[in-house]
Amino acid sequence: MTGSILRVGLATPLLRLFDYRCPDHGDGPLTPGRGRRVIVPFGKKTRIGLIVAITDTSSVPAAKLRTAIRIIDDEPLFDESIMALLEWSANYYRHALGEVIATALPGLLRKGGAIDATELIWQAAEQGRNLDITALSKRASVQARIVELILKAADGADATLLSAAGKTWRTAATKLVDKGLLTMTERRITVAPARDDTDGQRTDTPPTLTEDQRTAIDSITAANGYTAFLLEGVTGSGKTEVYLHCIERELEQGRQSLLLVPEIGLTPQLVDRFRRRLSTDIAVLHSGLNDTERLVAWRKARDGSAGVIIGTRSAIFTPIPKPGLIIIDEEHDTSLKQQDGFRYSARDLAVWRAHQLDIPIVLGSATPSFESLENVNAGRYSKLSLPNRPGNARQPVVKLIDLRHQPSKDGLTEPLREAISRHLNDDGQVLLYLNRRGFAPSMMCTDCGQLVECRRCDARLVFHQHRGRLVCHHCGAEHAVPRECAECHAPDLLPVGQGTERLEQALTELFAEHRIIRIDRDTTRRKGEIERRLELVRSGEARILLGTQMLTKGHDFPNVTMVGIIDADQGLFGTDFRSSERLAQSFIQVSGRAGRGERPGEVYIQTLFPDHPLLTTLVAEGYGPFATAAMVERQSAGWPPFSYLALTRAEAVRRQDAFMFLEEARDLAAQLIATGRFAGVRWLGPASAPMERRSGRYRGQLLIQAETRGQMQRFLGTWRPALDDLKSARKTRWSVDIDPTELF
Ligand code: ADP
Ligand code: ZN
Repeated sequence: MTGSILRVGLATPLLRLFDYRCPDHGDGPLTPGRGRRVIVPFGKKTRIGLIVAITDTSSVPAAKLRTAIRIIDDEPLFDESIMALLEWSANYYRHALGEVIATALPGLLRKGGAIDATELIWQAAEQGRNLDITALSKRASVQARIVELILKAADGADATLLSAAGKTWRTAATKLVDKGLLTMTERRITVAPARDDTDGQRTDTPPTLTEDQRTAIDSITAANGYTAFLLEGVTGSGKTEVYLHCIERELEQGRQSLLLVPEIGLTPQLVDRFRRRLSTDIAVLHSGLNDTERLVAWRKARDGSAGVIIGTRSAIFTPIPKPGLIIIDEEHDTSLKQQDGFRYSARDLAVWRAHQLDIPIVLGSATPSFESLENVNAGRYSKLSLPNRPGNARQPVVKLIDLRHQPSKDGLTEPLREAISRHLNDDGQVLLYLNRRGFAPSMMCTDCGQLVECRRCDARLVFHQHRGRLVCHHCGAEHAVPRECAECHAPDLLPVGQGTERLEQALTELFAEHRIIRIDRDTTRRKGEIERRLELVRSGEARILLGTQMLTKGHDFPNVTMVGIIDADQGLFGTDFRSSERLAQSFIQVSGRAGRGERPGEVYIQTLFPDHPLLTTLVAEGYGPFATAAMVERQSAGWPPFSYLALTRAEAVRRQDAFMFLEEARDLAAQLIATGRFAGVRWLGPASAPMERRSGRYRGQLLIQAETRGQMQRFLGTWRPALDDLKSARKTRWSVDIDPTELF
């Protein structure tokens, strides 16, 4: 590459790149090149960016062009295929390339750390082993503690470990090194491999495949180059088994596989299952890792030593030198779409990446998104089906409980209570789903009917009994429970409605002899808590499991024989055009937790609307027929996947600031469309967001709709950069969400 100007991506919201003169090698001999990091001056500070191109010319006048400070890497961090993916994503989502790069980089590298990062390790020099700690302890207690820590650490101690010895540990450690008691060495950062009882040996013998599984595996492994498969398999039908076989084939050919899973689906059990079956190193990438762990996993993927990469959303950007297969599990899951900042869909990018790498991709789900179903209908994806559970496991029987005729106490009707007792007496486990945390979703004045609302949001405060507080689930505000109604000053406020906390209390009274486990955001805040609770369920110790959305995904509880959906009616009349799709997906997913083992399962759904077509179709015919019917409606209304959307959101403390911007953005769109150059594009709004005020800010939105992706992209290419130049753009916080999955 020749040229003397570096074009650099920096993590700023600006949609452009930044030009710098090459550093004059005064500080380090590294040569610049695409994909390497560089330190550059930015305002009065310095920043780390990625070199995207090297050119001869710049539109910045020579006198204003600043010189980069130092090149960090002597090799590109990303291969060309990832560079292309990053550039394509930035362009498609109209997002700053520098921020896209920042999303793709492990934190340590983002902060300037070396890719071959080393750390300092302190170990006992030979004499140290016999060191008498008591001799040190009086005058040098920090030194004594260091020695103690080091004697316990088999592979030497790092800075994090030694810092436990006290604030002055570094000086103390240096003294011990000077005395010849300790040695200090540098080593490449590693993390202890995850505990693995198998010594790298596979211990699980795969089950005999069903005919459907065999057909699916054969089709996927026979794919020559890019092919997209939709693997539609009912819950517990053995999709994971299909993934394992396909991944094994890739390993035999020396190729790596990338498996993307929803955040909550990435459990230690899933990873263990893969470890027990595959003889390869597995790189696991998820948000719970610290920076070092993440870098190490990323490096194992990038240098080809990990045959399988399992990760959440952002793992789609992991470099993989020997790519063979990409799999998206639970492809309908909303966590695959990032909901702030760089709002990308990992599923859509995965399809793009598979295409670019010319390798097959498998999208698996029991409840496929309408987008993917439409891709099957249009012949872009091939469909593979697993309509049955293997062995004796059957799909559960679903029954509706009519809340109009069955009074409920604390959310439980008589038939539901009876069913729970019956399953408990038969040694089954029971799972109850209520997607509302807290004790009661609102507090009402018994005199005037007034509900307690958040002062900063258009929302009711939720009563949390355990904390004894009213909490806003939107802005996080917490208040003491008021002594009287703010409106009429009557002293009687009553918690109304059901939350998981109240349900747990009621169950504890009714089924005192059984252990009950609640899983929601409130009970699983501590690290490792969700795993601990799930383990109590898996071991059979807990007999009743209740919780929110967190329970619906991916978990395999072989002894759960009954599922109860406490309140089917939340979301039955949602405003978003996707609400019925979402509702059906969570019903099917939660129902799918029942009867995965040998025993048949039962599902009870409590509803005030047992005749609602969504419920009746789902119950009588299942997800497929429901989706077919709902997609006909979707098509006639012209919503995605039968059109393409870009949602502009704006929020400001003063309502008019947000709306001024949205109106100017709309006028700009109207002008462009009036030129006749953008056929198929129209706008809707601006309008208030469904919850207009949140955290004290007013929120509005403007929707752009196009008949095809191409039309949308052409329009955005002109319209989106022009938004930056609107005067009102500086007075409000705004963003453009391409292919939004939520309309608020
Ligand atoms: P899914 O990913 O579709 O939920 P899994 O692959 O986890 O399904 O399979 C569900 C359960 O059925 C697991 O316990 C798995 O071991 C078992 N299983 C999968 N395939 C078979 C098979 N062919 N024969 C017997 N059991 C199987
Ligand atoms: Zn609030």
